[in-house]
Amino acid sequence: MEVVVIGAGQAGLSAAYHLARQGFAPGTGFVVLDGETRAGGAWQHRWPSLTLARTHHVHDLPGLPFPPAQDDVPAAAAVPAYFADYERHFALPVHRPVRVRAVRRTRDGRFRVETADGDWTAAAVVNATGTWTRPFVPRYPGQELFRGRQLTPVDYRGAAEFTGRSVVVVGGGASAVQLLGEISEVADTTWVTRRPPVWREEPFGPDEGRAAVALVEDAVREGRSPGSVVGVTGLVVTPWVREARARGVLDRLPVFDRLTPDGVAWDDGRSVRADAVLWATGFRAALGHLRPLGLRGPGGGIRMAGTHVAGEPRVHLVGYGPSASTVGANRAGREAAVALRRLLHPDTALPRSA
Ligand SMILES: Cc1cc2nc3c(=O)[nH]c(=O)nc-3n(C[C@H](O)[C@H](O)[C@H](O)COP(=O)(O)OP(=O)(O)OC[C@H]3O[C@@H](n4cnc5c(N)ncnc54)[C@H](O)[C@@H]3O)c2cc1C
Repeated sequence: MEVVVIGAGQAGLSAAYHLARQGFAPGTGFVVLDGETRAGGAWQHRWPSLTLARTHHVHDLPGLPFPPAQDDVPAAAAVPAYFADYERHFALPVHRPVRVRAVRRTRDGRFRVETADGDWTAAAVVNATGTWTRPFVPRYPGQELFRGRQLTPVDYRGAAEFTGRSVVVVGGGASAVQLLGEISEVADTTWVTRRPPVWREEPFGPDEGRAAVALVEDAVREGRSPGSVVGVTGLVVTPWVREARARGVLDRLPVFDRLTPDGVAWDDGRSVRADAVLWATGFRAALGHLRPLGLRGPGGGIRMAGTHVAGEPRVHLVGYGPSASTVGANRAGREAAVALRRLLHPDTALPRSA
C-alpha cells in the first residue's frame, strides 16, 4: 500500500474519503483497517440513552450529509447506520475486524502494519484509532479493597441496574454530568471532581471553539499530552443540566482520598457508602500499537506539526488532540490526505483525481 489508515471512525473515514479524492486508489493504493466487527467507530458502543439530541452534535462526514433523524434515536444506532452507508456509497476499502497490534519501520524505509490477520506494508500511516478503547482510571488508595462495582462509561449500559443503590460518580466532564443526571433519577448519587466545574451558560460559538482548539494545538506542538478539547471548553448548561441542578444532584465534592471496602472516604473524616464507583475520568489516545515507532518525546507526549508527527511526515495522527471532535476529525482527514499526496506524489496536479 501507499497508505494504511488505522481506524474507521469519523477521522479514519474522513481520511479515506480525502485519500480517494487526492488520487490514491481505494484497495490498491490505500486501505482502512478497523478493529470493530461493523461500521460505526466508537459510536456503536455509546450507552443506549445517549440520543442524538444529547450529543454535542455529530458533524456530517465529508461529501454525504447525515440523513435527518429523530432527536430521540440512540446515537449508537443512527451514527453506525450512517457510517455504514457512507462506506458503501464511496466504496471505501475498509477491512474488519482487523485490529492492528504494532506498526514498525522496515529496513527499506517503509512501515509494517502488523495484525492478527496478516501484515501490510505502506509508505505512510494515518492513525485514526480514537480514545474509546482506552478509558482512563486514576489510581487511588484502597481501590482493590472496594467490594462494590467499579466501572467506566465504556461499561455503562443504563441507569436501571443502579436502582435503589448508592453510586459515586468521579469526573468533571460531559460524560460524568450526563450519567450523573440519569443515575440520580433512580439511585443516590455523590459527585466528586478534582476541580470545581466551569459551567458555560451560553451555547458554544465558533470563536470559543477555535480558541479551545488552539489551546490543544499549542500543547501537541510543544510535545505535551493533548488533554481533551472538551477539557478546555467547560461544561455546557443544557436543559438536562438545569433539571439535574434543580434536584441538587450537581452539588460536587472534592475527590475522596481513598476507597474503603464499603465506599469512599476523605482524610477529614467524612465518608460515603457506595455500591458502585463510576470513573468518568476521561480517555487517553489509543496509540499503543505505535510504540515501536518511538514517537514519544522525553515529556511523554508526541510533538506534532499539523496532523503529522514532527520530523515524521509519513505518520499522521487524525482525531488526536486538537482534532478529537467530529468536526476536527473531518478537517484532519483532509489535511492528512493532502499532505500525503504532496509528499508521495509531489509532481502530480491537485488532486490526482476528483
Ligand atoms: C461519550 C462521548 C460522546 C461524544 N460526543 C461527541 C459529540 O457529540 N460530538 C463530537 O464532535 N464529538 C464527540 N465525542 C468525541 C468523539 O470521540 C469524536 O468526536 C469522534 O467521534 C472520534 O472519532 P475517531 O474517528 O477519532 O474515533 P473512534 O470513533 O473511536 O474510531 C476509532 C476506530 O479505530 C478503531 N481502532 C482502535 N484501535 C485500533 C487498532 N489498534 N487497530 C484497528 N482499529 C482500531 C476502533 O475500533 C474504532 O472503530 C464524544 C466522545 C465520547 C467519549
